[in-house]
Amino acid sequence: MGFDSFLGNAKAVGAVRELLARGRMPGSLLFTGADGIGKKTLALMLAKALNCERRGAEGDDFCGECSRCLKADEFLASSAEDLARRRAIKDAQKRVEGLLYFDLQLIEPLTRYILIEQIRQLRSTAYTRPFTFPRRVMIVDQAQAIHWQAADLLLKVLEEPPETTTLILICPSAYELRPTIRSRCFTLQFAPVEEAVIERVLAEERGLGKRELALALRVVRGSIALAKTFELKDYLEQRKPWLALLESVARPSGRAPAPQQWKTLFDATKLLAEGGGHLEESLKTGSTLLRDLMHVLLGEEGRAVTNVDLLPRLKEWAPALGLDGIQQLEAGIESSYRQQNRNINQQLAFDSLAAEVLRSGPRT
Ligand SMILES: [Zn+2]
Repeated sequence: MGFDSFLGNAKAVGAVRELLARGRMPGSLLFTGADGIGKKTLALMLAKALNCERRGAEGDDFCGECSRCLKADEFLASSAEDLARRRAIKDAQKRVEGLLYFDLQLIEPLTRYILIEQIRQLRSTAYTRPFTFPRRVMIVDQAQAIHWQAADLLLKVLEEPPETTTLILICPSAYELRPTIRSRCFTLQFAPVEEAVIERVLAEERGLGKRELALALRVVRGSIALAKTFELKDYLEQRKPWLALLESVARPSGRAPAPQQWKTLFDATKLLAEGGGHLEESLKTGSTLLRDLMHVLLGEEGRAVTNVDLLPRLKEWAPALGLDGIQQLEAGIESSYRQQNRNINQQLAFDSLAAEVLRSGPRT
């Protein structure tokens, strides 16, 4: 346990540890960089290090085992559950009712935005004493989504740093935040995790062989978080109905599918609609395939294609679907994505999508 277990981004980790060792932790930090490269993980580790009962000889580490380290995990899990519960509430106004912040709090968008009530609650909590921790840590993930009204309020907190609270803002790029906000934060830029590190995780922790690695590396795309949980078997399984769907709709010009092909198509849409209980994941897989088809269509096959093991089939499908077909399917996935929590018949939606793509007729 401790910072040594963090993979990649040695510079960022080194900077955090140095600040800890010198007892010079800034009141507000900004972690920037792509998704899945460990920003939130390092924020959690920092929260532990600020509160751990066994911080190591240099005072720049955490044990991961003391009651406070365990409590930090618990707080983070509780905030994540609370966010999920609130996002499921239909009426967006009601999502912010009765907000209560823990000593370690994760704040994320509840609609498209992080709302003013969320930042108001952050502000009113930040200046009070934490309940169980010596130091409260508030992690604002996707800080670029802070509503403009809420940004003014956050700025006030940054201008008068609370004594008991450390703020960690996380976003893809510092330039997505107002200059007034980013200039008041100590910024740590995270780099994509080196392919060699990801490859080692996939090989050693996920047990992938050389041939499987090529595909896996592209699916996880530099994300250490995805690499650590990647299941090749599940990915291939999830991809199957999408391949059946594409096979059925990517017709050479003018030819309608034979009856057996309709059956294959409906079996595929049924599987897709069920999504194996993971509709969102499945839709992402579908989007990736469509992006691949687009790359192939535009002749950018090189490193851009994710499903590199399917290249020959992608090359058949891409011209058969054409730009219009690919875009129709993309729009269909987008609409399923938006409606996934509503009680609609997803299979019917996929069926009519497929029919629509087929109806669009011959392509050259
Ligand atoms: Zn500890």
